[in-house]
Amino acid sequence: MIAIPPALSNTIARIYFDLIKVRIFERIHLISMVMDVLGGNQPLSSIQHDAANGNSKISVANFFVNGNLIKTLADLPKLKMSNAHNWVSTYNSTLRNILTHFNHEMRLRKIILVSPTNAATVDRELKRRFKMMTGNSGKKAILTKFVNFILDYEGMHKYVAYQVGIELGIDCCPYCNRMPNQTIVDENDNGVIRPAFDHFLSQSHYPFLALSFFNLVPCCFYCNTSLKGGKKLSINTHLNPFLHGYGQDCVFKANLKNLHADISHPDNFEVRLHCVIPATNPKYRRIVGNNLSEGNINLFKLNSLYYSHRDIIGELWLKAQKYSSGHQGALFTSLGLRQEEKEKFYRLYFGNYRNEDDFVKRPLSKLTHDIIREMLPDLFV
Ligand SMILES: [Zn+2]
Repeated sequence: MIAIPPALSNTIARIYFDLIKVRIFERIHLISMVMDVLGGNQPLSSIQHDAANGNSKISVANFFVNGNLIKTLADLPKLKMSNAHNWVSTYNSTLRNILTHFNHEMRLRKIILVSPTNAATVDRELKRRFKMMTGNSGKKAILTKFVNFILDYEGMHKYVAYQVGIELGIDCCPYCNRMPNQTIVDENDNGVIRPAFDHFLSQSHYPFLALSFFNLVPCCFYCNTSLKGGKKLSINTHLNPFLHGYGQDCVFKANLKNLHADISHPDNFEVRLHCVIPATNPKYRRIVGNNLSEGNINLFKLNSLYYSHRDIIGELWLKAQKYSSGHQGALFTSLGLRQEEKEKFYRLYFGNYRNEDDFVKRPLSKLTHDIIREMLPDLFV
């Protein structure tokens, strides 16, 4: 787990809010208008003449009526309470209250920019406010669906994902530190590839956090989809990279087994993450866990994944041995460096970044750091 530098994320979070709030307010406007027409408070022409995109009008109208009756804009006259789902009238006042809550810049800011520390509390307070915590499970399901429909992650986040990805510049997955994670656009500014954005607190369990900046971790496809999926996490059981990295509390340890004469052979090595803080430290639970459903090492199968990188460890080990066997001077000279340029030497010779704030820039930076720091501590002073 690599921490995302807070100075960077706090700046981008404010840009993100200004981008996403416009789309949320547009959606609230359209949803309110459809509900007004259904309730007889506005004429159908208000929707027909509205500047909103036609497909958006159809999509929002169909959310409220039975059987996707609205196939084209010509079907909008079917937007009547007699065609609507029963829950539209049953829970009308609560639906209105939820819309009103979101339709306020300061309240929306509190949700979108909530810190990882307070996120679960804010979600719980809103569920309590709208009576989604207890009682009728059908009502809870409808209201959760409604919140997810307002905070339309799939529909809205894609419009800002590339811009946020570029501004953040998290070029390597913070969960695994294995996969490149760049955001790349072509010469016409069209998106080519970008990180996945993982809901640290899942959308299904925490609907009010669907678009909350610090709940959307830019990460790789494998960590987001293959390993984490919709599992229910909390900041007590797992590390959120907007809050913590492993730092020196958890380090890779490689053991040399000497099975092959070629020191760089991958079968010569075992590698494991080793947590050096006591089990009583709350961070220990987030890293190692009290059971298999806790701890980032378990969630992201990190010991298994890093087993596949023993070839890299072999190469690092060989280079470190060459360095420490009296070749330092020659190695610095061959790279055109002075002896005091240790950071640059590290980068050129070991092919990675030395300082923790830069670990998000390149895969395997944490592994490289921990192996080399143990073998060559003088490169870090
Ligand atoms: Zn990953």
